[in-house]
Amino acid sequence: MAKIILKPDTEFKAGKIVCVGRNYDEHIAEMSAERTSDPILFLKPSTAILNEGNNITLPIFSNEVHHEIELALLIGKEAKSIQSNEWTNYVAGAGIALDLTLRDHQSIAKKNGLPWCVSKGFDGACPIGSFFPLDTLSNLGELRIELFVNGELRQSGNTNQMIFPPGNLLEYITSIFTLETGDIVLTGTPSGVGPLQSGDRLQGVIENIGEINFNIG
Ligand code: MG
Repeated sequence: MAKIILKPDTEFKAGKIVCVGRNYDEHIAEMSAERTSDPILFLKPSTAILNEGNNITLPIFSNEVHHEIELALLIGKEAKSIQSNEWTNYVAGAGIALDLTLRDHQSIAKKNGLPWCVSKGFDGACPIGSFFPLDTLSNLGELRIELFVNGELRQSGNTNQMIFPPGNLLEYITSIFTLETGDIVLTGTPSGVGPLQSGDRLQGVIENIGEINFNIG
């Protein structure tokens, strides 16, 4: 059976984007950070969405824009205080996203105990591909996830390395935020994050889901 494709802002209106930090040990290590007992959450506004076919613009107010490839989940039904074993009832599909991060701004924010709204929420901070319905995807918990920049492998991991897998994430997130239809959850990035330059070509791949392609303008 052919996969059905759901495109943000054409086939559904994207809502808020709930993101998870420090969900892969090797990324925690490369950031010289520590594991936390609960997931670290932050938000991107819906204006951060950048659909395929558009170029990424590096913001002029940053000198260090990092790539982070992530498995993305599209919420299909309002979810509030759900249990971890119910999560698939609330997810319409899975896709691939980039959690673009202004690492210079984020480092200053971390040092001063300030929020990450600028470093994570600027226009275009969430390049994203199509979503595929969950029932057509096999074993979301064990998928190879990779990012190539100019054809060179930069990030490589497997969704089985998540500290908090999707069910645990959605249980925690929905204990705090109501997730609405069209909201998107980004599940954290594996190691290998790094800076982007003008002219770079990005290709993100998640096994069984497919790929996304973006150029830096
Ligand atoms: Mg991230």
